[in-house]
Amino acid sequence: MTPFPRADYRSLTKYEPGRRPAEVDLSDNTNLWGPHPDALARIRAATADDVRCYPEVYADTLRTAVAERFGVAPDCVTTGAGSDDILDSAFRAAAGPGQVVSFPAPTFVMAAELARVNGMQPRAVPWADAMRDPGLLLGDDVALVYVCRPNNPTGALAPRAWMERLLELAGDSGPLVVLDEAYADFAGETLIGWAVERPRLLVVRTCSKAFGLAGLRCGFAVARPEVALEVEKSRGPYKVSRLTTETAAAAVRDASGWTPKVVAECLANRNRLFEAFARRGLRALESSANFILFAAPSGSGADDAAALREHGVQVRPFRDIPDLGDALRVTVGPWPLVERFLAALDRRLADLGVEVSR
Ligand code: PMP
Repeated sequence: MTPFPRADYRSLTKYEPGRRPAEVDLSDNTNLWGPHPDALARIRAATADDVRCYPEVYADTLRTAVAERFGVAPDCVTTGAGSDDILDSAFRAAAGPGQVVSFPAPTFVMAAELARVNGMQPRAVPWADAMRDPGLLLGDDVALVYVCRPNNPTGALAPRAWMERLLELAGDSGPLVVLDEAYADFAGETLIGWAVERPRLLVVRTCSKAFGLAGLRCGFAVARPEVALEVEKSRGPYKVSRLTTETAAAAVRDASGWTPKVVAECLANRNRLFEAFARRGLRALESSANFILFAAPSGSGADDAAALREHGVQVRPFRDIPDLGDALRVTVGPWPLVERFLAALDRRLADLGVEVSR
Protein backbone atom coordinates (compact mmCIF):
# COMPACT_ATOMS: atom_id res chain seq x y z
CA MET A 1 0.00 0.00 0.00
CA THR A 2 1.18 3.51 -0.77
CA PRO A 3 0.11 5.85 2.01
CA PHE A 4 -1.59 9.05 0.94
CA PRO A 5 -0.84 11.83 1.60
CA ARG A 6 2.89 11.71 2.24
CA ALA A 7 3.56 11.50 5.97
CA ASP A 8 4.56 15.11 6.58
CA TYR A 9 1.41 16.43 4.86
CA ARG A 10 -0.93 14.90 7.43
CA SER A 11 -0.24 17.64 9.95
CA LEU A 12 -0.49 20.48 7.41
CA THR A 13 -3.61 22.56 7.04
CA LYS A 14 -4.86 24.91 4.35
CA TYR A 15 -3.95 28.59 4.75
CA GLU A 16 -6.65 30.41 6.72
CA PRO A 17 -6.13 34.17 6.95
CA GLY A 18 -9.36 34.49 8.99
CA ARG A 19 -10.90 37.08 6.69
CA ARG A 20 -14.61 37.66 6.49
CA PRO A 21 -16.44 40.24 4.40
CA ALA A 22 -16.34 43.63 6.11
CA GLU A 23 -17.43 47.09 5.01
CA VAL A 24 -13.88 48.37 5.33
CA ASP A 25 -11.15 45.76 4.94
CA LEU A 26 -7.82 46.93 6.34
CA SER A 27 -6.49 43.43 6.95
CA ASP A 28 -4.35 42.47 3.96
CA ASN A 29 -2.02 45.39 3.14
CA THR A 30 -3.28 45.73 -0.42
CA ASN A 31 -3.45 49.13 -2.10
CA LEU A 32 -6.64 50.87 -0.99
CA TRP A 33 -6.18 53.64 -3.56
CA GLY A 34 -7.04 51.09 -6.24
CA PRO A 35 -5.21 49.22 -8.98
CA HIS A 36 -2.48 50.85 -11.05
CA PRO A 37 -4.41 52.75 -13.76
CA ASP A 38 -1.93 51.82 -16.53
CA ALA A 39 -2.48 48.14 -15.70
CA LEU A 40 -6.24 48.53 -15.64
CA ALA A 41 -6.17 50.28 -19.02
CA ARG A 42 -4.32 47.30 -20.49
CA ILE A 43 -6.90 44.89 -19.09
CA ARG A 44 -9.71 46.99 -20.55
CA ALA A 45 -7.98 46.78 -23.95
CA ALA A 46 -7.84 42.96 -23.77
CA THR A 47 -8.22 41.05 -27.03
CA ALA A 48 -9.51 37.55 -27.73
CA ASP A 49 -5.92 36.35 -28.21
CA ASP A 50 -4.99 37.57 -24.74
CA VAL A 51 -7.26 34.84 -23.45
CA ARG A 52 -7.10 32.22 -26.21
CA CYS A 53 -3.33 32.02 -26.59
CA TYR A 54 -0.68 30.76 -24.19
CA PRO A 55 1.43 33.42 -22.55
CA GLU A 56 5.17 33.84 -23.08
CA VAL A 57 6.87 30.80 -21.56
CA TYR A 58 8.84 32.85 -19.00
CA ALA A 59 7.05 36.23 -19.10
CA ASP A 60 9.82 37.96 -21.07
CA THR A 61 7.84 41.19 -21.53
CA LEU A 62 7.64 41.57 -17.77
CA ARG A 63 11.26 40.55 -17.26
CA THR A 64 12.34 43.23 -19.73
CA ALA A 65 10.17 45.88 -18.02
CA VAL A 66 11.65 44.99 -14.62
CA ALA A 67 15.18 44.96 -16.06
CA GLU A 68 14.75 48.43 -17.56
CA ARG A 69 13.15 49.87 -14.45
CA PHE A 70 15.87 48.61 -12.09
CA GLY A 71 18.85 48.85 -14.45
CA VAL A 72 19.67 45.14 -14.52
CA ALA A 73 19.96 42.57 -17.33
CA PRO A 74 16.74 40.65 -18.25
CA ASP A 75 18.40 37.33 -17.39
CA CYS A 76 18.71 38.57 -13.77
CA VAL A 77 14.90 38.61 -13.49
CA THR A 78 12.46 35.85 -12.68
CA THR A 79 8.69 36.08 -12.24
CA GLY A 80 5.86 34.11 -10.74
CA ALA A 81 2.16 33.86 -9.93
CA GLY A 82 2.45 36.19 -6.95
CA SER A 83 5.59 36.54 -4.88
CA ASP A 84 4.40 33.55 -2.81
CA ASP A 85 5.00 31.50 -5.93
CA ILE A 86 8.51 32.91 -6.36
CA LEU A 87 9.30 32.18 -2.71
CA ASP A 88 8.02 28.64 -3.20
CA SER A 89 10.15 28.19 -6.33
CA ALA A 90 13.22 29.69 -4.65
CA PHE A 91 12.79 27.45 -1.59
CA ARG A 92 12.61 24.37 -3.82
CA ALA A 93 15.60 25.45 -5.90
CA ALA A 94 17.78 26.11 -2.84
CA ALA A 95 16.78 23.62 -0.17
CA GLY A 96 16.06 19.92 -0.21
CA PRO A 97 13.78 17.89 2.07
CA GLY A 98 14.99 17.97 5.68
CA GLN A 99 17.14 21.06 5.21
CA VAL A 100 16.58 24.17 7.27
CA VAL A 101 14.99 27.45 6.21
CA SER A 102 15.78 30.07 8.84
CA PHE A 103 14.27 33.51 9.39
CA PRO A 104 14.09 36.24 12.02
CA ALA A 105 10.66 35.94 13.67
CA PRO A 106 7.96 37.09 13.85
CA THR A 107 7.72 37.43 10.09
CA PHE A 108 5.53 36.62 7.09
CA VAL A 109 3.77 33.36 7.98
CA MET A 110 4.29 31.89 4.53
CA ALA A 111 8.03 31.51 5.12
CA ALA A 112 7.46 28.70 7.62
CA GLU A 113 4.48 27.39 5.65
CA LEU A 114 6.39 27.10 2.37
CA ALA A 115 9.26 25.39 4.15
CA ARG A 116 6.82 22.80 5.56
CA VAL A 117 4.99 22.07 2.31
CA ASN A 118 8.36 21.48 0.68
CA GLY A 119 9.46 19.07 3.41
CA MET A 120 12.02 21.49 4.86
CA GLN A 121 12.40 22.52 8.47
CA PRO A 122 11.48 26.08 9.37
CA ARG A 123 13.75 27.61 12.03
CA ALA A 124 12.47 30.79 13.68
CA VAL A 125 15.17 32.88 15.34
CA PRO A 126 13.74 35.53 17.69
CA TRP A 127 13.97 38.92 15.94
CA ALA A 128 16.05 40.69 18.60
CA ASP A 129 18.53 37.79 18.79
CA ALA A 130 18.90 37.70 15.02
CA MET A 131 19.41 41.47 14.89
CA ARG A 132 22.12 41.21 17.55
CA ASP A 133 23.85 38.33 15.78
CA PRO A 134 22.86 37.45 12.19
CA GLY A 135 25.12 34.40 12.52
CA LEU A 136 22.28 32.76 14.49
CA LEU A 137 20.41 32.40 11.19
CA LEU A 138 23.25 30.34 9.74
CA GLY A 139 24.55 26.83 10.31
CA ASP A 140 25.65 23.76 8.39
CA ASP A 141 22.07 22.53 8.02
CA VAL A 142 20.71 25.89 6.78
CA ALA A 143 20.09 25.99 3.03
CA LEU A 144 18.11 29.22 2.86
CA VAL A 145 17.71 32.35 4.98
CA TYR A 146 14.50 34.36 4.56
CA VAL A 147 14.44 38.02 5.53
CA CYS A 148 11.42 40.25 5.07
CA ARG A 149 12.39 43.94 4.67
CA PRO A 150 10.32 45.85 5.70
CA ASN A 151 9.04 43.06 7.85
CA ASN A 152 5.45 41.83 7.90
CA PRO A 153 3.78 42.12 10.44
CA THR A 154 5.98 44.50 12.46
CA GLY A 155 6.95 47.02 9.75
CA ALA A 156 10.58 46.93 10.97
CA LEU A 157 13.34 47.62 8.47
CA ALA A 158 16.39 45.48 9.23
CA PRO A 159 19.35 47.90 8.97
CA ARG A 160 21.39 47.86 5.76
CA ALA A 161 24.55 47.26 7.80
CA TRP A 162 22.86 44.20 9.31
CA MET A 163 22.02 42.87 5.83
CA GLU A 164 25.62 43.50 4.81
CA ARG A 165 26.86 41.51 7.80
CA LEU A 166 24.42 38.65 7.18
CA LEU A 167 25.57 38.35 3.56
CA GLU A 168 29.20 38.51 4.61
CA LEU A 169 28.71 35.74 7.19
CA ALA A 170 26.67 33.63 4.76
CA GLY A 171 29.51 33.90 2.26
CA ASP A 172 29.64 33.42 -1.50
CA SER A 173 29.00 29.69 -1.31
CA GLY A 174 26.67 29.53 1.72
CA PRO A 175 22.88 29.43 1.88
CA LEU A 176 20.71 31.44 -0.49
CA VAL A 177 19.52 34.63 1.19
CA VAL A 178 15.99 35.45 0.06
CA LEU A 179 15.10 39.06 0.72
CA ASP A 180 11.37 39.68 0.55
CA GLU A 181 10.78 43.30 -0.45
CA ALA A 182 6.99 43.09 -0.77
CA TYR A 183 6.69 46.46 1.01
CA ALA A 184 9.93 48.13 -0.17
CA ASP A 185 8.08 50.85 -2.10
CA PHE A 186 6.85 52.18 1.24
CA ALA A 187 10.33 52.11 2.78
CA GLY A 188 11.82 54.15 -0.05
CA GLU A 189 14.76 51.83 -0.47
CA THR A 190 15.60 48.58 -2.18
CA LEU A 191 18.59 46.25 -2.21
CA ILE A 192 17.91 45.07 -5.76
CA GLY A 193 21.25 46.63 -6.75
CA TRP A 194 23.01 44.26 -4.36
CA ALA A 195 21.32 41.20 -5.83
CA VAL A 196 23.15 41.45 -9.16
CA GLU A 197 26.49 41.82 -7.40
CA ARG A 198 26.30 38.94 -4.95
CA PRO A 199 26.23 35.26 -5.81
CA ARG A 200 23.65 34.15 -3.24
CA LEU A 201 21.04 36.91 -2.89
CA LEU A 202 17.54 36.88 -4.40
CA VAL A 203 15.39 39.99 -3.93
CA VAL A 204 11.67 39.27 -4.30
CA ARG A 205 9.00 41.87 -5.10
CA THR A 206 5.24 41.70 -5.47
CA CYS A 207 2.77 43.48 -7.72
CA SER A 208 0.08 43.00 -5.03
CA LYS A 209 0.88 45.92 -2.73
CA ALA A 210 2.10 49.29 -4.08
CA PHE A 211 0.88 48.48 -7.62
CA GLY A 212 -2.57 47.40 -6.40
CA LEU A 213 -2.68 44.20 -8.48
CA ALA A 214 -3.24 41.49 -5.84
CA GLY A 215 -6.03 39.89 -7.88
CA LEU A 216 -3.70 39.28 -10.81
CA ARG A 217 -1.23 37.19 -8.76
CA CYS A 218 2.10 38.43 -10.00
CA GLY A 219 5.55 39.00 -8.59
CA PHE A 220 9.13 39.29 -9.81
CA ALA A 221 12.58 38.81 -8.38
CA VAL A 222 16.14 39.82 -9.16
CA ALA A 223 19.38 37.89 -8.66
CA ARG A 224 22.53 36.95 -10.55
CA PRO A 225 21.63 35.14 -13.80
CA GLU A 226 22.78 31.75 -12.47
CA VAL A 227 20.47 32.12 -9.42
CA ALA A 228 17.54 33.50 -11.43
CA LEU A 229 17.88 30.57 -13.85
CA GLU A 230 17.52 27.97 -11.08
CA VAL A 231 14.41 29.71 -9.73
CA GLU A 232 12.97 29.82 -13.26
CA LYS A 233 13.54 26.07 -13.60
CA SER A 234 11.76 25.48 -10.32
CA ARG A 235 8.88 27.81 -11.24
CA GLY A 236 8.21 26.10 -14.54
CA PRO A 237 6.77 27.39 -17.84
CA TYR A 238 3.60 29.40 -18.56
CA LYS A 239 3.18 30.38 -14.93
CA VAL A 240 2.19 34.02 -15.43
CA SER A 241 -0.86 34.56 -17.60
CA ARG A 242 -0.71 36.54 -20.82
CA LEU A 243 -2.79 39.46 -19.57
CA THR A 244 -0.93 39.49 -16.27
CA THR A 245 2.45 39.63 -18.01
CA GLU A 246 1.31 42.69 -19.95
CA THR A 247 -0.55 44.47 -17.16
CA ALA A 248 2.18 43.95 -14.56
CA ALA A 249 4.72 45.25 -17.08
CA ALA A 250 2.61 48.41 -17.52
CA ALA A 251 2.58 48.92 -13.73
CA VAL A 252 6.33 48.36 -13.50
CA ARG A 253 6.97 50.91 -16.30
CA ASP A 254 4.61 53.34 -14.51
CA ALA A 255 4.39 55.71 -17.49
CA SER A 256 1.69 57.73 -15.69
CA GLY A 257 3.79 58.18 -12.53
CA TRP A 258 0.91 56.88 -10.38
CA THR A 259 2.83 54.73 -7.90
CA PRO A 260 5.07 57.38 -6.25
CA LYS A 261 2.06 59.69 -5.78
CA VAL A 262 0.04 57.00 -4.03
CA VAL A 263 3.03 55.91 -1.94
CA ALA A 264 3.63 59.52 -0.82
CA GLU A 265 0.01 59.84 0.32
CA CYS A 266 0.23 56.50 2.09
CA LEU A 267 3.33 57.59 4.02
CA ALA A 268 1.69 60.87 5.08
CA ASN A 269 -1.33 58.92 6.34
CA ARG A 270 0.92 56.40 8.09
CA ASN A 271 2.49 59.24 10.08
CA ARG A 272 -0.92 60.70 10.96
CA LEU A 273 -2.18 57.30 12.07
CA PHE A 274 0.93 56.71 14.17
CA GLU A 275 0.25 60.00 15.98
CA ALA A 276 -3.40 59.02 16.42
CA PHE A 277 -2.27 55.87 18.28
CA ALA A 278 0.04 57.93 20.50
CA ARG A 279 -2.80 60.33 21.36
CA ARG A 280 -4.89 57.36 22.43
CA GLY A 281 -2.07 56.00 24.57
CA LEU A 282 -1.83 52.85 22.41
CA ARG A 283 1.58 51.36 21.76
CA ALA A 284 2.30 51.11 18.04
CA LEU A 285 5.46 50.03 16.24
CA GLU A 286 7.19 52.44 13.88
CA SER A 287 6.64 51.08 10.40
CA SER A 288 8.45 51.30 7.08
CA ALA A 289 5.54 49.58 5.30
CA ASN A 290 1.92 50.42 4.42
CA PHE A 291 0.57 49.09 7.73
CA ILE A 292 1.01 49.63 11.44
CA LEU A 293 1.04 47.00 14.17
CA PHE A 294 -0.34 48.16 17.53
CA ALA A 295 -0.97 46.58 20.91
CA ALA A 296 -4.44 45.07 21.26
CA PRO A 297 -6.25 47.45 23.63
CA SER A 298 -8.03 44.67 25.56
CA GLY A 299 -4.98 42.41 25.59
CA SER A 300 -6.78 39.98 23.26
CA GLY A 301 -6.16 40.61 19.58
CA ALA A 302 -8.85 38.13 18.54
CA ASP A 303 -11.50 39.83 20.72
CA ASP A 304 -10.54 43.30 19.56
CA ALA A 305 -10.51 42.27 15.90
CA ALA A 306 -13.98 40.70 16.31
CA ALA A 307 -15.27 43.88 17.99
CA LEU A 308 -13.84 46.11 15.26
CA ARG A 309 -15.44 43.88 12.64
CA GLU A 310 -18.78 44.37 14.42
CA HIS A 311 -18.16 48.08 13.84
CA GLY A 312 -17.55 47.41 10.12
CA VAL A 313 -13.74 47.40 10.02
CA GLN A 314 -11.52 44.36 9.53
CA VAL A 315 -7.94 44.30 10.80
CA ARG A 316 -5.64 41.34 11.38
CA PRO A 317 -4.87 40.01 14.86
CA PHE A 318 -1.46 38.58 15.82
CA ARG A 319 -0.33 36.79 18.97
CA ASP A 320 2.81 37.06 21.07
CA ILE A 321 4.54 39.93 19.31
CA PRO A 322 7.73 40.94 21.19
CA ASP A 323 7.17 44.20 23.12
CA LEU A 324 3.44 44.21 22.26
CA GLY A 325 1.94 40.84 23.16
CA ASP A 326 -1.36 40.43 21.32
CA ALA A 327 -1.48 42.98 18.52
CA LEU A 328 -3.53 44.20 15.56
CA ARG A 329 -2.20 45.07 12.12
CA VAL A 330 -4.02 47.78 10.21
CA THR A 331 -3.41 48.67 6.57
CA VAL A 332 -2.95 52.37 5.82
CA GLY A 333 -5.30 53.65 3.12
CA PRO A 334 -6.89 56.93 2.02
CA TRP A 335 -7.65 59.10 5.05
CA PRO A 336 -11.47 58.61 5.03
CA LEU A 337 -10.87 54.85 5.49
CA VAL A 338 -8.36 55.50 8.28
CA GLU A 339 -11.00 57.71 9.91
CA ARG A 340 -13.50 54.86 9.68
CA PHE A 341 -10.96 52.68 11.46
CA LEU A 342 -10.30 55.29 14.16
CA ALA A 343 -14.04 55.71 14.76
CA ALA A 344 -14.40 51.92 15.17
CA LEU A 345 -11.36 51.84 17.44
CA ASP A 346 -12.78 54.63 19.62
CA ARG A 347 -16.04 52.72 19.97
CA ARG A 348 -14.06 49.68 21.05
CA LEU A 349 -12.02 51.74 23.51
CA ALA A 350 -15.24 53.21 24.91
CA ASP A 351 -16.69 49.68 25.30
CA LEU A 352 -13.56 48.76 27.22
CA GLY A 353 -13.95 51.83 29.41
CA VAL A 354 -10.72 53.39 28.16
CA GLU A 355 -10.67 57.16 28.43
CA VAL A 356 -9.80 58.67 25.00
CA SER A 357 -8.24 62.14 25.03
CA ARG A 358 -7.60 63.82 21.68
N1 PMP B 1 5.62 38.65 1.11
C1 PMP B 1 5.05 39.35 2.08
C2 PMP B 1 5.90 39.90 3.16
C3 PMP B 1 3.67 39.54 2.11
O1 PMP B 1 3.10 40.22 3.11
C4 PMP B 1 2.88 38.99 1.06
C5 PMP B 1 1.38 39.14 1.00
N2 PMP B 1 0.72 39.14 2.17
C6 PMP B 1 3.53 38.28 0.08
C7 PMP B 1 4.90 38.12 0.11
C8 PMP B 1 2.79 37.58 -1.00
O2 PMP B 1 2.33 38.45 -1.94
P1 PMP B 1 1.78 37.96 -3.33
O3 PMP B 1 1.84 36.47 -3.37
O4 PMP B 1 0.41 38.51 -3.43
O5 PMP B 1 2.73 38.57 -4.34
